[in-house]
Amino acid sequence: MARYGLPDNVEFCSRCVMSNQKVTPSLVQKDTKEGAKHTLIFQDGVCSACRVQELKANKIDWHQREKELLRLLDKYRSNDGSYDCIVPGSGGKDSIFQSHILKHKYGMNPLTVTWAPHIYTDVGRRNFDSWVNKGGCDNFLFTPDGEKHALLTRLAYKNLLHPFQPFIFGQRNYVMHMARKFNIKLIFFGENPAEYGGFENEENSSKMNTSYFVDDNRKNMRISGLSFEELTTQHKISEQDLSLYLPLTNEQYQQHQPDPRWLGYYLNFHPQSNYYYAREHVGFEPNDQRTEGSYSRYNSLDDKIDGYHYWCGHLKFGVGRATHEASQEIRNGDLTREEGVALVRKYDDELPKRYLPDFLDYMNLTETAFFEIADSFRSPHLWELKNGEWQLRHKVS
Ligand SMILES: [Zn+2]
Repeated sequence: MARYGLPDNVEFCSRCVMSNQKVTPSLVQKDTKEGAKHTLIFQDGVCSACRVQELKANKIDWHQREKELLRLLDKYRSNDGSYDCIVPGSGGKDSIFQSHILKHKYGMNPLTVTWAPHIYTDVGRRNFDSWVNKGGCDNFLFTPDGEKHALLTRLAYKNLLHPFQPFIFGQRNYVMHMARKFNIKLIFFGENPAEYGGFENEENSSKMNTSYFVDDNRKNMRISGLSFEELTTQHKISEQDLSLYLPLTNEQYQQHQPDPRWLGYYLNFHPQSNYYYAREHVGFEPNDQRTEGSYSRYNSLDDKIDGYHYWCGHLKFGVGRATHEASQEIRNGDLTREEGVALVRKYDDELPKRYLPDFLDYMNLTETAFFEIADSFRSPHLWELKNGEWQLRHKVS
């Protein structure tokens, strides 16, 4: 009775608080409503993300990795002041850390590129401005046509309960189009999602898989739960409108020969340290209050609808924002498992209320329709209705 190809039995990692229902990040650009997804792999009660963390903590010679980074940078370093690498980012703590350290410690000349949030929060916009004004790098901020992007978001919510899907497609592919436009080969993404339990075979690789960025079969691609034909005929969104949301064609990729890398392979990322780094170097500000659905104040806070991305994940997979953040902090040694369990039980199922009116207005949905759609995506193996209230059948303990 499990939907979305999720495992029938719910299991929680004995080290962190993640469950085996967690699906891997949307790097492979599949858009299926009920199709099989890759979920986190568990071995002897421990999730693959914790195993990768163990490897990172004990087996990696970070000094050696930095030497590898220097060799890579020297291969691409420009001598005439032109851009020699590209760093996509939002102006959050991680992108600030990446572009700043490449520029100021390693002497590169990065171009930064940003796919705009759906609706900037005030603090998010201030952090973005600080990044550009104090971070030492040029930036291109791309904002897709608001009406079309809102429509795609609404369709993705209705069809997939995944309102962030069009944004994720755009954010991922726009950087490749920009790299091609400026003929920049070296592209730095942050951390390999293998660190969070996806793509196990790549956990120890610096190079990204080409298949994330190339798709020749455009006519078969789907976005927001619809085919190209449905988008064109029913919603008047053309292939041209979608061009920056879509991957490069194989021909474009082969012509350009980009070299996309995980910076997290070379440098030992620590999210909390990135926050302190960003605060010290460009004046990055944390949120003025606790992020709803979790306990943190400095993760992913630039978009008013960000909280709904996690909230939808909680409905579909039983994995909310507190689970994500606590699992990561447990792995990094910043929380005990016991503290993590308490935080998840307290915050994971909290509906973000602060920006709900903005989100409903953005998607042109009534509150009733918003909840009806959401409830229709609850998988019965995770949820039960008790005295008129939805409750998770399994909670971490
Ligand atoms: Zn784990």
